[in-house]
Amino acid sequence: MTDKRCTALVTGAGGFIGGNLVAALRSRGHERIRAVDCKPFAEWYQRFDDVQNLSLDLNLLDNCETAADGAADIYNLAANMGGMGFIEHNKALCMLSVLINTHMLQAALKCGAQRFFYSSSACVYNGDKQTTFEAPSLKEEDAYPALAEDGYGWEKLFSERMCRHFREDFGLYTRVARFHNVYGPWGTWYGGREKAPAAICRKVAETPRGGTIQIWGDGKQTRSFLYIDECVEATLRLTRSEFRGPVNIGSEEMIALNKLAQLVAEVAGKKVNIVNVPGPVGVRGRNSDNALIKRELGWKPSLTLREGIKATYEWISAQVSQLRAAS
Ligand code: NAD
Repeated sequence: MTDKRCTALVTGAGGFIGGNLVAALRSRGHERIRAVDCKPFAEWYQRFDDVQNLSLDLNLLDNCETAADGAADIYNLAANMGGMGFIEHNKALCMLSVLINTHMLQAALKCGAQRFFYSSSACVYNGDKQTTFEAPSLKEEDAYPALAEDGYGWEKLFSERMCRHFREDFGLYTRVARFHNVYGPWGTWYGGREKAPAAICRKVAETPRGGTIQIWGDGKQTRSFLYIDECVEATLRLTRSEFRGPVNIGSEEMIALNKLAQLVAEVAGKKVNIVNVPGPVGVRGRNSDNALIKRELGWKPSLTLREGIKATYEWISAQVSQLRAAS
C-alpha cells in the first residue's frame, strides 16, 4: 500500500492548523483521511465531504481508540488552547490537554500506528531566556533547565517527553515540533482564543480610517510569526523524516507587537492610531532559531511576514464584512 492510501488521522481537525493540514493532505492526493474534533461540525473552520469526519471528545481513551483505529499516520493537534489572553486565564484547562495526549499515545500504540506527530509549542522554552526585547533566538536546548510558560507550556513540555519515552520504551515512532505563533486564514479570529496577528487584523478591519486600536502591554514585546502553509509543509516533512525532534517550526523574522499592528494597517491601506493598554503579554522577547531544522530537513520559511499578513488580512476582513452583513 502506498502512503497516500493509508489512513491519516488528524486530531483537532475542526481547528486552525488541523483544518489546514487536512486540506493540504487532500490536495496532495491522500485518499483516506480521518478528521476528528470535539466541536460540533457546524463550528469547524474547514470540513470536507470526502473525508471521514468524527466529532469525538479525545479526553476519553475509548474515543482515542475509535479515532486511531486503522490509522497509519497520526497528527495529534487537538488541544485546549488560544492566545495569551486565553492561556493566562485558563491554566488548568490547558493542562488538561494532557488527557488527550496521554490517551492518543496509548491508542496509537494499541492500534499499531506507524507515525505519530505531536504539536508542541515555543511556550516550552525557559522564561528566563526571554526577558528582553532583543532576546536571542531560541535553540531547542533552551527548553532546559525547565521553566516553561505556566500551565500551557508545562503541559506541552510534559507531553513532548511522553512522546520521547513512548518511542524509547515502546518503539512508537514519534515526531515532535515546537510551533512558533502560527497565523493565517481559516483560524480563530474572534471570541477570546484568537492570537495576536488575527486579533490585530480583526481590529484593523473593524476600525474606520483614523480610528484607534488597542494593543496589550507596551507593544515592545517581540515575537516571530509563521504563515500556516509553511507550518503545514514543515509538519509533513518532519513526520516523514528520520529526524525525531523536538524541533522549532517557526519564522526568524522577529517583530514588536506595535510594529506588527503598523504592518497590518499598512497592508489594509488604513491609517489607525495605536494605543497601548494593560493586558496579558507573556515573555518580553521570543524568536525561533531555525538552524536545526535547516540542517536536518533542509526547511526554512519562504514567505515574508508582509506577504503572510496580506493573505490573512484579506481573509479576516472578508469574515468581518460577512458577519456585519449577516447581522
Ligand atoms: P485550535 O484551537 O484552532 O485547534 C485545536 C482544536 O482541538 C480545536 O478545534 C478544539 O476544538 C480541538 N480540541 C480541543 N479539545 C479537544 C478534545 N478533548 N477532543 C477533540 N478535539 C479537541 O488551535 P491550533 O492553532 O490549530 O493549534 C493546533 C495545535 O498546535 C495545538 O496543539 C496547539 O497547542 C499547537 N500550537 C499552535 C500554535 C499556534 O500558533 N496556532 C503555536 C504552538 C502550538
